[in-house]
Formats: sequence, structure tokens, C-alpha cells
Amino acid sequence: MQRDTMLRNLRERQEPWDIVVIGGGATGAGVAVDAAARGLSVALLEAHDFGKGTSSRSTKLVHGGVRYLEQGNVSLVMSALKERGLMRQNAPHLVHDLAFVVPNYSWWEAPFYGIGLKMYDLLAGKYGFGASKLLSKEETLERLPALEPNELRGGVVYYDGQFDDARLLIHLMMTAADHGATVLNYCPVTGLTKDADGYVNGVTACDLETGEALLLKTRMVVNATGVFTDSVRQMADPAAEQLVVTSQGIHLVFDRSFLTGDTALMVPRTSDGRVLFVIPWHGHAVAGTTDTPVDAPSLEPRPLEEEIDFILETAARFFVRPPTRKDVLAVYVGLRPLVKGEGKTSALSRDHLIHVDNSGLLTITGGKWTTYRHMAEDAVDHAITLGKLNDTPCPTKELKIHGYTQDFAALGSLDVYGSDAEAIRTLAKDPALAAQLHHALPYIAAEVVWAARAEMARTVEDVLARHTRALFLNANAAIAMAEPVARLLAAELGRDEVWIAAQVSEFHTLAEQYRVV
Ligand SMILES: Cc1cc2nc3c(=O)[nH]c(=O)nc-3n(C[C@H](O)[C@H](O)[C@H](O)COP(=O)(O)OP(=O)(O)OC[C@H]3O[C@@H](n4cnc5c(N)ncnc54)[C@H](O)[C@@H]3O)c2cc1C
Repeated sequence: MQRDTMLRNLRERQEPWDIVVIGGGATGAGVAVDAAARGLSVALLEAHDFGKGTSSRSTKLVHGGVRYLEQGNVSLVMSALKERGLMRQNAPHLVHDLAFVVPNYSWWEAPFYGIGLKMYDLLAGKYGFGASKLLSKEETLERLPALEPNELRGGVVYYDGQFDDARLLIHLMMTAADHGATVLNYCPVTGLTKDADGYVNGVTACDLETGEALLLKTRMVVNATGVFTDSVRQMADPAAEQLVVTSQGIHLVFDRSFLTGDTALMVPRTSDGRVLFVIPWHGHAVAGTTDTPVDAPSLEPRPLEEEIDFILETAARFFVRPPTRKDVLAVYVGLRPLVKGEGKTSALSRDHLIHVDNSGLLTITGGKWTTYRHMAEDAVDHAITLGKLNDTPCPTKELKIHGYTQDFAALGSLDVYGSDAEAIRTLAKDPALAAQLHHALPYIAAEVVWAARAEMARTVEDVLARHTRALFLNANAAIAMAEPVARLLAAELGRDEVWIAAQVSEFHTLAEQYRVV
């Protein structure tokens, strides 16, 4: 992916695109992959870096959602379990099985969760990841040695999927580009144009790097802007009623020693009636999440003190060594785009919604990361009908995602790059690029060069937050890495000392929000 080439494609195209996608999160990326793989002409515009929004801030689970089973939403769980299987099949370098243990401290929990999780297995059918089973107290502690043994009766183990969300997002953008899509970051859509009958027939946008205004003519516009959905709908119709409500979830990241072993902890009912996970991820332990309604969407939401306290207090009930504020290496926050309905945000449906405004603007929102492919198929099917586009069947059930390889185990810390790891290893033959950027994290200089050359990374934040996950794993380490990363990027992108200083300073300000003091 070359940014200059993408920009040139947008400038030079005279005829209308089949589809212009607004938003470069999981939903928009899925739509771009689907449309491009069907042979449609597609352009995707993202206001910031790909994945800057919710799609880099999830719990990192590829799951049916045990919780939704409890809510009685069997069809959502079944469809998500099928998607979970397809994700692992098409991106095995990024989606892995993970064992989860639900510890039992009361007599009724073993039969209750045991039966519920058997039902979860059954719903997965041929897409199952492994059979759940009851564990004795000893077996439970073997899997989760850090667990509080006092009054522990046993547990239930079940299996779900886990992934690196931002990395999958980047590989989806690369998949879309591999199939001929034009995708551009740092290019917000600023308005929509309409024909004489009032139907949307184009978008206006601004390339933030040059300030250049762009006009893209198109047959269909797909609005995939997550929590920003309604602001884009209001570009077409200022009176458009609210479709999406926003709820915030935070995660705390700790040293791996808080969760020894390869098994995740699942707390099925916290004091506020939610689910909490503590999962191993990239050599760390991630605990979350919360569900706090928020009024206005933002790209950099902040954690509330009570959310931090809630996760620490809940974790303290389950671990022999309770984590404290000073153990938190990073806190990250995401905003859920939820389809508006009645009741608490935690009870709102995680189903997706396709909505078509009178102007013909097609909005796709809600859903989950796990269901991105199915959402995209649904959206492109609708776009084909509404825009009278060339109708070809959706090929994504079998479509391999960029980086696909079965041999990821041999790639060490570069495993998330899949088949691209070889190119990074070649770069690292230069000893200067083989250097690790911080002793606490495995990232090497060659990854920064690769991010700039092949993945359209433009800033220090892009590299440290999404192309590597340094900021999400250890905010202090990421701060220490900012200057070397800025220098490597400057050499690749042709930037000067003033740019380096500004990048380092901006990153330090941002990273402060990922620290807990
Ligand atoms: C705390 C939390 C935990 C979660 N955990 C999981 C999980 O473990 N598993 C799971 O399956 N799902 C999970 N989810 C849900 C999942 O993360 C979301 O459903 C998904 O990421 C939403 O993707 P999206 O593309 O719709 O939105 P986003 O990722 O927010 O993408 C929308 C994009 O639109 C861009 N945009 C906005 N306005 C414009 C404009 N005018 N022009 C151009 N671009 C624009 C934004 O910059 C943004 O990048 C979680 C969600 C949260 C909040």
C-alpha cells in the first residue's frame, strides 16, 4: 500500500466509483474487501489512521459472546460462532484458539455454567474450537495458578478465539488493496453531493497531508463510521434522527505475571451484572471491560476513575496477588457504536443494522468485530441492489486475508505479520534495523520501516499504537520509543528535525492518557 499511489488513483479517476466507503474501521475495511473481491470499483476514506477508532480498542476476542446466550440472543451467537470459525480459517496467522476458565466459588455455578457452555459448544457445530468441560479445584488452579484458591470449588473450561485487532485491520486494508481497492488514510469526508433528484452521488474530502480538496463521484456511498454514524448521515439530511448510541469500555494492561499460564479468566457476573475477562495477550495480561454510556463520540476517549477502580476491585476478588494502580502498564478506551433501543447500554443488541436514508446513503453499524465479514456481505448485497451494480456472489467466506500462512509458529515475535514476516526479516539483515526499540517489548526498527513502506503508517502514533501495539501494552515504554521511531519514520517519509520534534511532543501528550497515575 503506497499512499501516493492511492491519492493519485483518487485524483485521476474520471468515471464514478461503484462504492465509496466512509470509515476505515473493521466495518469499512470489511466492506472494501468484499466489494473489491467481487470486482467492484471501490474507494475507502478514513479521517485518521486506519483503525484509530473502536477497532483497535476491543477486548481482542473473536467470539460468539457467551453473555448474549444468557440474554437469549441465540441467532446472534450462532452467526458469530460461524464467523469466528471463518476468521480463523482465513487469517490463521492472526486468530488463535484460547482456553477460558470460569472459576466456581458457589455450588450452583458448575452445573449452571457447565450447561450454558455446552450449549455454546453445540451452537458452534462444525465451527467449534474445542469441547468445554468441568474442572476440579486442582485442575482449575493448574490452568490459572494466580487464582484465589480460598473457597474455590472448581471451574469450567471453554474455548473461544483471540486476535490482534489493529493488525487484522491493517491486513484487511492490504487485502482490499490487493484486490484493487483504493484506500486512503488521513482523508476525512467533509460532505456529500447529490443529483437533481436528491440522491447522494459523491463525497467531498480533504487530504490532511496536503490540504487538497477531493471530489469523488460514485454510484453508492456506504457510511461505516461507527460512533460517528449520525454525523455523516446528517451531512445528507441535517434532520436525520439518531440511530446510534455510544457506550465506553476500558481495559487495563498488566505484566504477564498476574496471569501465569496460557488460559484466560472469565468472570461471568461482576457486581454490576456484566462479564469481565482477564486474558493473555502479546506477553501481557489484559483486563476488561466496562460499559458506561457517553453523550458525545470522540476519537480519544478517556477512562473514568470509577472504571479503573471497578476493574481493579473485580480483579482483586479473583487473584492471590491483587493488581493495584501502580501495576497498570497501560489503560485503553473504546467506544461501542450500539443501535439505539430501550434500556441500559449493556442490554442493547449487538446485532448489526443496515439503514438506507431517503438520499440513498447506506449506513452499516452496530455488530461486533467478530461479525465484520457477515456485516460487509450484507452491506454490499444491499449496495448492489440499490446502486444497480454488477451482481456477483460474495466470495469472502473462503477469501484468504493478507499475510495468510499456516506456518506462523516459526515466525517468533513477527508472527502477526504472517507471510510478510519474511520481508521484515530481510530488512533486519541491516544490523541497525535489527535493533530492539525497547527492552520491555519485542519490536525492532525494521517493523517501523516496514510500516512506513508497506502499510501506510504516517506518524509515531500510527506505529506505536496500531502497527505495533506498544502504546496499548506499556505506555512508558512507548514514550521512550517515540524519538527513535520518529527518526526512522522521518528518514522514510522525508521529514525534517522540526517534524521529529513535533511528533515526539504530540505522542508524549497522547501517551499520558494511556498511563494510570
Ligand atoms: C470496549 C470494547 C470492547 C470490544 N470487544 C470486542 C471483542 O472482543 N470482540 C468483538 O468481536 N467485538 C468487540 N467490540 C466491538 C468492536 O470493536 C466494534 O463493533 C467494531 O470495532 C466497530 O468497528 P467500526 O468500523 O464500525 O467502527 P470504528 O472502528 O470506530 O471505525 C469508524 C471509523 O470511521 C472514521 N470516520 C468517522 N468520521 C469520518 C469521516 N467523516 N470521514 C472518514 N472517516 C471517518 C473514524 O475515524 C473511525 O476510524 C468491542 C467494542 C468495545 C468498545
